[in-house]
Amino acid sequence: MVTGGAGFLGSHLCDRLVEQGRDVVCVDNLFTGSKANIRHLLGSPRFEFLRHDVTFPLYVEVARIFNLACPASPVHYQHDPVQTTKTSVHGAINMLGLAKRVRARILQASTSEVYGDPSVHPQPEEYWGNVNPIGVRSCYDEGKRCAETLFFDYFRQDRVDIKVMRIFNTYGPRMHPHDGRVVSNFIVQALRGDDLTVFGDGQQSRSFCYVDDMIRGMLLMMESPSGVTGPINFGNPAEFTMLELAEKVLEKIGGRSKIVFKPLPSDDPRQRQPNIAKARETLGWEPAVTLDDGLEPTIAYFRELLNGGAGFGLRPMEGQPSMRAKRATE
Ligand code: NAD
Ligand code: UDP
Ligand code: UDP
Repeated sequence: MVTGGAGFLGSHLCDRLVEQGRDVVCVDNLFTGSKANIRHLLGSPRFEFLRHDVTFPLYVEVARIFNLACPASPVHYQHDPVQTTKTSVHGAINMLGLAKRVRARILQASTSEVYGDPSVHPQPEEYWGNVNPIGVRSCYDEGKRCAETLFFDYFRQDRVDIKVMRIFNTYGPRMHPHDGRVVSNFIVQALRGDDLTVFGDGQQSRSFCYVDDMIRGMLLMMESPSGVTGPINFGNPAEFTMLELAEKVLEKIGGRSKIVFKPLPSDDPRQRQPNIAKARETLGWEPAVTLDDGLEPTIAYFRELLNGGAGFGLRPMEGQPSMRAKRATE
């Protein structure tokens, strides 16, 4: 079972699992995910889609649970912050309760955001982080931190077979064109000939991992020996400033776009780079795709999307009903 299976990472994971011959249940409430991401799988006898919100209990029989349900971009997770915390916390409780009942192995898609604005660089798993508990990013950061707590308490208390991976910034085809994350923003802006919006002075850094590398890591983590609980960092240690990323995107796409500077959002981490020694030693995992190579298929995806392909609605988030309004009308 893949919760959040119609989202960016979840849909790629469903693809790999179906290719491996697994029977896949994809659970998603389609908040930020889309049927377009999984349409090609709907005809497969191995694939089942269940529209469900993980903050409510779910009774199914499964052997493996990949818990990815949670909006990941700051614009989306701040859209309805209370729902974001509920998704991480109630969602984790329900999925862990399910894993406990059916004795399923369960993997949590945690995040580098548990490190907050890190004062240790690069970040090893032992670092406890520097998170503002009351800021605009807290619904996501603290929700994910609490989910990790729940995973380890179910492990200690009920011997649930857990795997916790801390995912660093990941990009690739099927990112939502309006989710506000930096890679999709810059590419869509450049393809439209709009100016690229660099927040702050653009000297803050991130390390970007291509989706195929991340999904390979996720599958390795899930099938690791049962003593391996994590948390383990997954990401590409190659670190870039946002100004460097903007220049790279402009170089690849060309056109008339310029770089413009906008205010830095509050609590925006200044630097981020994973220490992936544990993933290397424990699983033999490391990323293989450079940012230059990964940007090519990502740009090709958005180019097709903007030309009317891929079946995505191109409405900006502001035009979409809130989760609560959406639920009330369902
Ligand atoms: P995404 O927004 O594309 O996918 C999230 C999916 O979860 C969507 O399909 C959405 O509809 C679904 N969802 C949200 N709330 C739900 C709910 N209450 N019930 C059921 N489904 C719900 O984001 P993504 O980038 O694919 O991220 C997937 C997971 O990986 C998230 O948990 C995210 O926190 C984690 N992660 C991603 C990154 C990254 O850079 N992409 C980095 C760190 C962690
Ligand atoms: N749960 C679920 N599916 C299951 C089993 C449990 O959704 O197959 C939910 C249920 O709503 C419960 C939560 O998981 O509240 C936590 O379950 P647990 O057994 O840990 O606790 P309890 O049932 O005592 O609250
Ligand atoms: N960012 C930017 N321009 C944009 C969107 C984001 O300069 O149009 C910056 C943002 O301020 C942050 C970095 O890019 O410093 C990464 O942002 P993103 O939302 O992709 O991920 P996160 O902050 O969660 O790592």
